[in-house]
Amino acid sequence: MIRRPIPHPAWIEVDLKQFKKNIQLIRSHVGNRLFCLPVKANAYGHGLCAMGKAGEEAGVDYLGVSCLQEGVLLRQAGIQIPILVLGAIHEEQVPDLIAYDLEFTISSKYKAELVAQSCERLQKKCRVHLEVDTGMQRTGVRSTTALEVFRYLESAPYFDVVGIYSHLATADTYQDPIALQQTQAFLSLFRQEIFQKSSLIRHLANSGGVLYFPESHQDMVRPGILTYGYMPKQRPAALEGIAPCFSLKAKVSYFKVVSAGEGISYGHTYRTQKQTRIVTVPIGYGDGYRRSLSNRGSVLIRGRRYPIAGTICMDQFMVDIGDKEAYVGDEVVLIGKQGDAEISLQEVADLCDTIPYEILCLFNERIPRLYLDT
Ligand SMILES: *Cc1c(COP(=O)(O)O)cnc(C)c1O
Repeated sequence: MIRRPIPHPAWIEVDLKQFKKNIQLIRSHVGNRLFCLPVKANAYGHGLCAMGKAGEEAGVDYLGVSCLQEGVLLRQAGIQIPILVLGAIHEEQVPDLIAYDLEFTISSKYKAELVAQSCERLQKKCRVHLEVDTGMQRTGVRSTTALEVFRYLESAPYFDVVGIYSHLATADTYQDPIALQQTQAFLSLFRQEIFQKSSLIRHLANSGGVLYFPESHQDMVRPGILTYGYMPKQRPAALEGIAPCFSLKAKVSYFKVVSAGEGISYGHTYRTQKQTRIVTVPIGYGDGYRRSLSNRGSVLIRGRRYPIAGTICMDQFMVDIGDKEAYVGDEVVLIGKQGDAEISLQEVADLCDTIPYEILCLFNERIPRLYLDT
């Protein structure tokens, strides 16, 4: 089924079938654990509520968001499964966190006390996870004070402590010594009896943890980028079937023949060597398609790869197709596959000197998402 937005000549296509397959593959890889699907930052650009719903349909146990707003949007979209706010919360958000039935993170004694005060005023309880910093230095209580904060949470009448977690800073390769150290630091917490409550959900593994550090899997895993289908070259055989579910596409909006020696686009940074055919593609940095791809990136049209000619404008850019064929209305693939040809997200990220995550997050609301689910 295709849910069609208002016709627009550039769009993101999300293959929900592949997405759900990725979830199943990860599930069987990690065995019998809870699955928290990170959908922060508009579900890595794929669309927050649609991906949250797809995750719910695929049977994930939790959705992970970064902040209150994202959790509210998911609840307003009718999502019922537990949602965990991973980022640091602010005390003025407590009434809404509770009203929208969001679990959230306690990352310091100070925050815990502020939350307790809010709960006292509201006469409500809240569901929280204690975050322990084992080496990221972002948020979270130190391992050495985890015990004290946990005791406080357990003794105050306002908290249901649902989970305890940490986040890995360097899990991108096998046997990374820092990730191993963090994992050991996390596991060693549970030598203390107070943390051995069986109801406490222990969670640590991001995508890297899921892939490379089985000891990090614990009670729940939180793989983001992997679930969206991206991974490093080294992958366990069991996860071979994981693939991206995201493509960026557009339709050729203009065609013309340009003589030799003409400058193309702002600043004339591209000059035609000979008479050539130029097509225009209606997407630009105003949609989140990075301007640093000017004169560097490529697109696919009719199964062939062509170079971006000149600077990318806010809303469109040009492509030099030489003496080949392409006309108005032809499909252009900017990220994804067309026939046997492919432009990978990694290729685009490399050209922009960044990581796939950032490229995905930058696509904004102007570019419609089309969900394929058959
Ligand atoms: C973003 C995030 C994840 C997911 O990270 P990936 O690298 O995409 O797997 C997991 N846990 C926390 C706390 C995060 O912030």
